[in-house]
Amino acid sequence: MTESNSCSVACNRCGHCCSYMGDVFGIVEKTGQFEYRIQYLITGIMQVVAIDKDKRDIFFNTSILDKHPLACPFLRFDNENLAVCTVHHTRPDLCRMYLCEKCK
Ligand code: SF4
Ligand code: SF4
Repeated sequence: MTESNSCSVACNRCGHCCSYMGDVFGIVEKTGQFEYRIQYLITGIMQVVAIDKDKRDIFFNTSILDKHPLACPFLRFDNENLAVCTVHHTRPDLCRMYLCEKCK
């Protein structure tokens, strides 16, 4: 998701870009109450992310994984079916660099 990059077209929070990221990185271990070490599956690089304070409730609802088994483990959808990155403040570097097709 590109919620706050320099994209000239706003992200519509469809969640498509995050729906297959479970193939790119995964959770290796829980490192704190709301903190997780993730690892990029190809490079082996690790990074620690933390669930944003205001997204903890939604994070613990994991029903999304039934519908999107390959989704990023931190992707959730709110009551309006808009995608939410629950680790937005500490999101992986790859997500920070991602430039959505809609933004080109
Ligand atoms: S695919 Fe593009 S518009 Fe949809 S959530 Fe990702 S960045 Fe936003
Ligand atoms: S960490 Fe956030 S932005 Fe990155 S794939 Fe997961 S939900 Fe999307």
